[in-house]
Amino acid sequence: MEAVDAEAFTSTTTGYRAWFQCINGCAGEYSLKEIIYRCPKCGNLLEVRHDLERLRQQSPMYWKDLFDRRFLRTEWPHGSSVWGKREMVCPDVEDENVVSTLEGGSNLFWAERLGKEIGVPDLWVKQCGNSHTGSFKDLGMTVLVSMVRQMRAEGQTIPAVACASTGDTSAALAAYCAVAGIQSIVFLPKNKVSTAQLIQPIAHGALTLSLDTDFDGCMALVQELCSRNNIYLANSMNSLRIEGQKTTSIELVQQFDWEVPDWIIIPGGNLGNVSALGKGFLLMRNLGMIDKLPQIVCAQAERANPLYQSYLNDFKDFQPVQAQPTLASAIQIGNPVSVQKAIRILQTFDGIVEQASEDELANASARGDRTGLFNCPHTGVALAALFKLADRGVIGANDRVVVISTAHGLKFTDFKINYHESQLHDVESRHANLPVELPADYTQVQDAIFRALAL
Ligand SMILES: *Cc1c(COP(=O)(O)O)cnc(C)c1O
Ligand SMILES: [Zn+2]
Repeated sequence: MEAVDAEAFTSTTTGYRAWFQCINGCAGEYSLKEIIYRCPKCGNLLEVRHDLERLRQQSPMYWKDLFDRRFLRTEWPHGSSVWGKREMVCPDVEDENVVSTLEGGSNLFWAERLGKEIGVPDLWVKQCGNSHTGSFKDLGMTVLVSMVRQMRAEGQTIPAVACASTGDTSAALAAYCAVAGIQSIVFLPKNKVSTAQLIQPIAHGALTLSLDTDFDGCMALVQELCSRNNIYLANSMNSLRIEGQKTTSIELVQQFDWEVPDWIIIPGGNLGNVSALGKGFLLMRNLGMIDKLPQIVCAQAERANPLYQSYLNDFKDFQPVQAQPTLASAIQIGNPVSVQKAIRILQTFDGIVEQASEDELANASARGDRTGLFNCPHTGVALAALFKLADRGVIGANDRVVVISTAHGLKFTDFKINYHESQLHDVESRHANLPVELPADYTQVQDAIFRALAL
C-alpha cells in the first residue's frame, strides 16, 4: 500500500482526515470531493477511510462525552446525530454547506409486549423510519447532498444529483436537494413503489422518471447517465451514504449508555445498510469505545434472497437472482451493489442471514402493530427473522436484541389496508381487524361493543 501523506485530504474545517479507497485495498487514495465511485484499478467499490491514528489521539471517553453533549441539542449542525459525529463521518464539509434536517436521534423503542410474547424480553426496535422523509435513507443522504453542496461551493460543476430507487432513496434525495436548492433526478420502477414514496419526489420538485423496468434496470440506466455526464450519483455504491448510515450503530450504543447489544437484526436489499451498521461497530471497537461486537442478522425477503442463497453456501460464491415481486418492495433487489461489503461484515460479526416469505413478513408486521409498533413491510421481514431465530433457540431469553426498523408504516398504508382486508396474495391475514360498519344507532353500537368485548 502507498504511504499516506499526512497533509493530503485533511479537512480545514475539523482537522480530521478521510478519503476514498478501494475495498480490496488497491493502492490509491481519492479525495471525498472527487466524483468517483469505483476503484480505477479493479472496478470494485470504494469505501471511506478515516485517519484512525488521528482519531485515536482522543480517548474513548472524549468521544463519548462529545457525542453525548451534542446529541439532539441546538448547536448547528451538531444536533443532527450524523453531524454530531462528523469527525468520524465526513470531516470535509463546512458548517454553511451542511444540508441537514436534524437526522438521527430516532427513538429506541422497548418492544416489551412483543418481546414477552416471543420469550425475548430485552427486545428493542430502533425506529429509523421516524425521520424527515420516513426512512433511514436520510442518514446517508444528508452526507451526500452536503458534500455536493460543498463541491459546488468550491466551483465544481454538478448540475444535478440522480439515483435509482425502490422508493425511499428517491424520497430522501429529493427532499435534501430541495432543502439545498439542487436539482434531483430520480429513476423509479413503474408501479413498484408505494403512493407515498412516489409523491415525495414529485412534491419536492424532482425530475421523476417512472420506468418500465425493475430496480436493477433503473440502476443500470442511472449508472450510465452518471458515468457519461457530471451528474452526481446518489446510490449507495457512493460510499458517502454509508458513512452517514453507520451512525445508526454509534447512536444505538449511545442510547444504551455505550453498552453493545447481543444481536442486531436488519433487513437487507442492496446491502448498503448492513455494511454501514457493521462499519460503525468496527470503528467504535477500533477506537476503544466498545469492547465487543454484536451478532448481526441480515433478513431478506424470500422472493429477493441472493444473500440468503449465498449464506447457505457459506458465502463460497454469490449469484445474483431475478428478484420476484414482494410486499417488501424496498428490498426487491436481485443484484445488490454492496454484496461484497456485506459478506465481509457478516463474516466478521458471526452473522446469520434469514429469510421471510410473504405470509411471514406480513403477519410479523401486523403482530408488531398489535403491540404498538407501526412499521413497514421490511421491518416485518426483520421481525419474521427474529421470530424464527427465537423459535429455534438461536436467540436466547437473556439476549438483548435490537431490530432495525427501516421505514415508517405510514409510507405503506396500502400494504396495511390490504392486509386487514385479507387482500394480499399468498398471505393469510391472521391479525386482521376490520372496521365494524353500523348505522348511527345507540342500541346497535352498544350491542356491537358488548359482543366484541364478550361482556
Ligand atoms: C433501502 C431500504 C432497505 C434496504 O437497505 P439496503 O441498504 O438497500 O440493504 C430496507 N428497508 C427500507 C424501508 C429501505 O428504504
Ligand atoms: Zn481496487
